[in-house]
Amino acid sequence: MQQALVLEKKGVLSLREIDLPTQVGPGDVEIEIDTVGVCGSDVHYYTHGAIGPYVLREPMVLGHEAAGTVVQVGADVKGLKVGDRVCMEPGVPNLSSRASKLGLYNVDPDVRFWATPPIHGVLTPYVVHPAAFTYRLPDNVSFAEGAMVEPFAIGMQAATRARIQPGDVGAVIGAGPIGIMVALAALAGGCARVFISDLSADKLKIAGQYPGIIPVDVTERPFAEVIAEKTGGWGADVVFEASGSSRAFKGMFDLVRPGGAFVLVGLPVEPVEFDVAGAISKEVRIETVFRYANIFDRALELIASGKVDLKPLITGTFGFRDSIKAFERAAAGHASDVKLQIKVKE
Ligand SMILES: [Zn+2]
Repeated sequence: MQQALVLEKKGVLSLREIDLPTQVGPGDVEIEIDTVGVCGSDVHYYTHGAIGPYVLREPMVLGHEAAGTVVQVGADVKGLKVGDRVCMEPGVPNLSSRASKLGLYNVDPDVRFWATPPIHGVLTPYVVHPAAFTYRLPDNVSFAEGAMVEPFAIGMQAATRARIQPGDVGAVIGAGPIGIMVALAALAGGCARVFISDLSADKLKIAGQYPGIIPVDVTERPFAEVIAEKTGGWGADVVFEASGSSRAFKGMFDLVRPGGAFVLVGLPVEPVEFDVAGAISKEVRIETVFRYANIFDRALELIASGKVDLKPLITGTFGFRDSIKAFERAAAGHASDVKLQIKVKE
């Protein structure tokens, strides 16, 4: 039994003892958790009890953005040792599945993903995880940054799908945590400048602190109008939808240049309609992003190199004992909160 932050049912959290697996298999490591980020998906399970087909039916430990220290290694583990500081990829696929063999392990139907019902998350002091999905942190990358790799990996997957070329102009709809991660990854991937839109001045201010990211307040002017003006009427080379809002799909292809890419990252709650003719007439390449595959090593390279600084996005840290407070704060949705983290190890 160990302490954990348990989502008992929709709207009810408790910090209590729970029975979790402790068996370290030959390919596993045991990790003492240091820091866990609070993710929009964790908060959504808390407030709604479900995300699409994933419905909470019994108590579940929350948390999937984590970093910590290896305290035990399985007999067959090579490349990790006790004392290594690590971060973890929360989705574990079946490595012999057809999707995994194709390198698309993120869309393996059998993937087991932390804090996605019925799989427990990691807001608890110790977890067991396959070494193959555990990544050593470079010495200059903190636990707090390590716990940011997971959301940043989504931005990296989006930038990868966009097939950015050096000097591209990017546009990101939505300046929430994932929108900012996408914009940073697009810059790291070669975009010369990235415009980012939102309704919230607070969110835009946070995004705009990064050189190369240009905030656009859509309460003042339509995003497409600004993009047209700044690109001589041509449009952005790569556009990312990171708001999940159905409103973003209206006129979406006005943002993108002929032959450009439109990458869908945000997950709309309800089915949305979009303008197929608008896409066809520009031969827009539409891409989708579901989590990430083969990204964590490259994300860590970028963070360690200093090319990507995620530290300014960590806007609040709570102790493990205040985990419920952290979730209440996150559920309140303050525009100035980008990433809240929980320091599990006191
Ligand atoms: Zn997350």
